[in-house]
Amino acid sequence: MSVTTSRRALMLREMGISPQWHLRGGAPSADAMLAEAQNVTAVAAAVPHAPESQAGAVPSPETPRAGSDDRRNEIMRMDWAQIKACVASCTACTLHARRNKTVFGVGDENADWLFVGEGPGADEDAQGEPFVGQAGKLLDSMLAAIQLKRGANVYIANVVKCRPPGNRNPEPAEALACEPFLHRQIELIKPRLIVALGKVAAVNLLAREASVASMRRKVHQYRGIPLIVTYHPAYLLRSLSEKAHAWEDLCFAVDTMASLKNAARETI
Ligand code: SF4
Repeated sequence: MSVTTSRRALMLREMGISPQWHLRGGAPSADAMLAEAQNVTAVAAAVPHAPESQAGAVPSPETPRAGSDDRRNEIMRMDWAQIKACVASCTACTLHARRNKTVFGVGDENADWLFVGEGPGADEDAQGEPFVGQAGKLLDSMLAAIQLKRGANVYIANVVKCRPPGNRNPEPAEALACEPFLHRQIELIKPRLIVALGKVAAVNLLAREASVASMRRKVHQYRGIPLIVTYHPAYLLRSLSEKAHAWEDLCFAVDTMASLKNAARETI
């Protein structure tokens, strides 16, 4: 068995996919996608959210932000301790009313990898940590499949820090109100690569309405940081056939990270 085949078999086993599955069509090279990404306009972060199943209007990056400019500017100056304290006491949107715990994010604050989901579910709301339920277990398996582990060169965050009732998607005003926190987290982490988990994360980070299927296997840009889109683990739990696509995306992410590191070495 070749090294590539062996790696694929290991990844598939980690993700609970039959080792008989094979890539279809072949993925575009990360180098080619990175070159293409140079032409992609980096855009501002927060936009109203549309449900996974339907497209919705996306405002331009010039759309006024929720809250005052003063609030946003203040958050942009915060260090880790200040931003954690600010989130813990935040009442900037209606989601604060029913939360048990805010879910700030977790992991290596100097990570190369940043995974962004949509918002806390019941387990996360109870424990104050992102991705700790069944979807979290699958995310951990996905990370293990590419030799990553939460907390070790990996940071995990969400678009909103408080649980939307009934696990609904965040409303536009909620995502807008919470956006400065995620933006500041990204500024502080300075990840090499962002992986948007699901449509809510992708649409909010890219300020562009599109399906996950159409955004996969491309290197997008979030304020100059390469960004890749794949399915949310909770969606994968309901749509087992998409797990194979998610594995394909992880391979693409690994190749993209390798290309980014090579490019960084060449500029030294
Ligand atoms: S979701 Fe974000 S903006 Fe809304 S109350 Fe929670 S921390 Fe504040």
